[in-house]
Amino acid sequence: MVTLHRRLERDHADALRATVAAARALEAQGRRVARLDIGEPHFPTPQHIVDAAHSAMRDGATKYVSPQGLADLRDAIATAQRSRGIDMSADDVVVTPGVKPMLMYVLMAVCRPGDEVLVPDPGYPGYAASARLAGATVRRYPLTEIGASFSVDVDALRACITPSTRVLILNSPHNPTGMVIESIALEAIADLVMRHDLWVLSDEIYSALTYDCAAPPSIATLPGMRDRTIIVDGFSKAYAMTGWRLGYAVLPSALVGDITALVADGSTCTPPFVQYAGVAALTGPQDALTDMRRAYASRRDALTAQLRSIDGIHVTTPDGALYAFANASELMRDSKIRSSGDLSLELLQQYHLACVRGSAFGARGEHHLRFSFAVAADHLADALVRLAAWGRGHRT
Ligand code: PLP
Repeated sequence: MVTLHRRLERDHADALRATVAAARALEAQGRRVARLDIGEPHFPTPQHIVDAAHSAMRDGATKYVSPQGLADLRDAIATAQRSRGIDMSADDVVVTPGVKPMLMYVLMAVCRPGDEVLVPDPGYPGYAASARLAGATVRRYPLTEIGASFSVDVDALRACITPSTRVLILNSPHNPTGMVIESIALEAIADLVMRHDLWVLSDEIYSALTYDCAAPPSIATLPGMRDRTIIVDGFSKAYAMTGWRLGYAVLPSALVGDITALVADGSTCTPPFVQYAGVAALTGPQDALTDMRRAYASRRDALTAQLRSIDGIHVTTPDGALYAFANASELMRDSKIRSSGDLSLELLQQYHLACVRGSAFGARGEHHLRFSFAVAADHLADALVRLAAWGRGHRT
């Protein structure tokens, strides 16, 4: 019998959780740990969003609602997505408790057993976990790294496509590298997708978090792509709403019925007062988002400058998302450290600084460390002191 554990082959997702668990264990011993491991905005959820949930609860929005999601929220999402150039209506939206369950529902809806799902390497571990749960086979396509800067290599991607390939997962801005896929690369990818008749699952959860560059383009805006692209997006990162659990998909109309049925069977609906909070997030003032983005940009700059000052570490300035993905190959070679897991453990145990081992994001993440800059300014300042001490430790 195939156990749940076997079905998940819990490699990368477990590696990520192990890092977090090790940091928490140290904290439980009373140690102060500089946590740059979790991709969670430290800012509180903006007050007007919290207030909207309170008044919705007081007004009785506490019962089952439509599995597809409230019309008010789907309308607000359609307006926001149309302003990015996505040709869609509120009928194309399905709402879920976070993006994570939506990844699974989408892959369950479009994959037959044995179908292959192309996931980026390095990439967010949730993709492989969801694909396996959906009974699909995971195939990783390599991102190319030149001078610590990542991009999608369309030729390498083409080489990964087989007759069984069914879905291509894109993520831009990208976790863990901060890469934003440029329009010209998206056009080449779209061409490939149409030739091979694939679905695209485009994870755009960081689309509101780009720095010093234009809003990231969506592949769904390219000719012929809207009907084969599933955009997933959510409120966790942009609006500091990780614990609320609110996400959604913009679907080709042919998939709306199936995904809504999966939501109905899997989670019934998304809590209505949370959905009203989402309406306030999208339709209310955007100043908090602007302020948070500005703060992340300056923390990103401080973090990457500190990382660059360490011998043997290379890092580019991420264009988006909340992470710096540092290439530590040189430092590891010089200090004879074998894996990014050992390196992250050294940082945690000797300097009480938590980051995520690059191998948690796939084989191509090995020799890297992911540092989140979604933390408070004083917390980051403390982490930078520890990073500097670690760098000095490796020089001597
Ligand atoms: N997609 C990416 C790329 C992420 O980094 C994350 C969370 O870290 C998620 C999806 C999950 O987001 P949610 O909190 O909406 O489930």
